[in-house]
Amino acid sequence: MAGQVNINTYPTTEHQLVKGCSYIYSPGGPAFEYAPLAANPYNGCGHYCLYCYVPLALHANAERKAEFHARAVPKANYLSHLTADAKKYQAQGITEQVLFCFSTDAYNPFDTSLTRPSLQIIQQHGMAICVLTKGGSRALADLDLYRPDRDCFAATLTSLDDDFSKKWESRAALPADRIETLKKFHDKGIFTWVSLEPTLSVEASLEIVQETHEYVDLFKIGKANYLGKYTKDIDWRDYTMRMITKCVKLDVNHYIKENLQKYLPDGYYNPLRIPQHN
Ligand code: SF4
Repeated sequence: MAGQVNINTYPTTEHQLVKGCSYIYSPGGPAFEYAPLAANPYNGCGHYCLYCYVPLALHANAERKAEFHARAVPKANYLSHLTADAKKYQAQGITEQVLFCFSTDAYNPFDTSLTRPSLQIIQQHGMAICVLTKGGSRALADLDLYRPDRDCFAATLTSLDDDFSKKWESRAALPADRIETLKKFHDKGIFTWVSLEPTLSVEASLEIVQETHEYVDLFKIGKANYLGKYTKDIDWRDYTMRMITKCVKLDVNHYIKENLQKYLPDGYYNPLRIPQHN
């Protein structure tokens, strides 16, 4: 198995682009490493993560950036657009998971009215759901929708410490709430994964793996993009080696993202995709 997966040369069949669809889309770059298909029902988010890449990706000026962080607003006619796209994917026989969300959060603190119907539309058209959120227990409202043999649930964790989280992700659910929610999904037989990106503190990320591995089925591990001034003292080679040593010792599934793959030993087993269901 190749240790270093180049996402640019990953088989193009993974890019399940269906003509005329933009509400279910294939993300690029680091997001593609997380999922081949995604959907974003809202404009804005409101979790107010200081490291959020979305305003940057949108080339937002100060006013638009403030707007993005101030609220989440349902996209106009979203459910009918999503249904139209889902029909096209179904017609192509595509049945894989669609990730909610990269440019917002399905369980943001402001408006989650589109989340449940969106997840249902995906399922009703033969596909599966994957939610990556910092909304913690807000996600439990939809726990009944998840199917152990098709769907998965994920959370981003940057620390186990409340004060750290309040500084970096001031309106997201606190770490303990996110972890408790992961446990509840895991207890229901749902495949769970954790995003360790961004890594803002080496010790914090290692501690998260140590404390949560019994109910997390996969860790996706990256560095911190766009945050050079905060992470300039981190030795990413040392971090990668310590992380893989820990994951191997605890016997947990892990994927090292492309931005750390150059530090992996030659031939290290690091599959881009494994089945994310039970
Ligand atoms: S939860 Fe995601 S989309 Fe929302 S502010 Fe944080 S990083 Fe940005």
